[in-house]
Amino acid sequence: MMYNQKSKTYSPMTEEAYDRYMQAGRVAAQVLDASKDLIKVDASLLLVANTLEEMIYDAGMGTAFPVNISLNADAAHDTPSSDDIRVFAHGDLVKVDLGVHCDGYIADTALTIDLGSDHALLIEASVAARDAAIAHIKPGVQIGVLGAYIAEEIMSRGFKPISNLTGHGLDQYVLHMPPNVPNVPKKGGMLLEEDMVVAIEPFASTGTGAIVDRKRAEIFSEVASRPVRSPGARAILKEIESRRGMPFARRHLQNYSELGFTRLVKDGILYAHPVLSDEPGSFVSQSEHTMIVTEDGCIVITA
Ligand code: MN
Ligand code: MN
Repeated sequence: MMYNQKSKTYSPMTEEAYDRYMQAGRVAAQVLDASKDLIKVDASLLLVANTLEEMIYDAGMGTAFPVNISLNADAAHDTPSSDDIRVFAHGDLVKVDLGVHCDGYIADTALTIDLGSDHALLIEASVAARDAAIAHIKPGVQIGVLGAYIAEEIMSRGFKPISNLTGHGLDQYVLHMPPNVPNVPKKGGMLLEEDMVVAIEPFASTGTGAIVDRKRAEIFSEVASRPVRSPGARAILKEIESRRGMPFARRHLQNYSELGFTRLVKDGILYAHPVLSDEPGSFVSQSEHTMIVTEDGCIVITA
């Protein structure tokens, strides 16, 4: 049932798989909606992340990745650390990105909240870009064409699409797989097929339109399985086994040891996902939905 990395094939869209995608999508939409009430000036980022993740668990689902809360120039991949003292400030532009899975079937969705940064048009740009792409999704459409629709909505409002971040395919327990859906026009590329599951996630920026890695990394995933000797490292691997390679946050670990953790990253067993940022002082908005491609269009599971 798993996505086959070698043959790049999808698991079949059985009735059961479809049902679980829809359940995950419903919960993802509800929890994302709840974030609008929780994210306020002076609220703690850590408390908000924990609360949203608890809501996912309480609905009987799992997190496909830690709740991402990325501010201002940070486009993605920030999540609070366990000792995070940050609170939201007036003028913050907040991206919330969350993933819910039901038996591994993933719904991935994101929105942007403006805490007085005066960026309504920037938010509108990524939402309109997302919706323009969704309106054109059907079997046979080349993914590069979707990038053109996305870029057009963003650039016509005076902003830049982030060119080195993409939407993506999803499969059971697999968060990112082909096709990568560009946020800029691209020639060629895969054709959409019925029953593909894809996430469309445009980012609109007032900056350069390209992200770079920051030093900070709080999100990790297991990318290789190799025997390790250090007891600290073994305890961590045991704890994350059930994630089946899906990303986790450092703050999730009960058995965290600095030594074991550093070892696993150095050995290439854990991959660090750094915070991704446009230039300092810029603002980035994001919007994301997950779709199942149907015979003549798509079903948005996170709406
Ligand atoms: Mn996402
Ligand atoms: Mn995504």
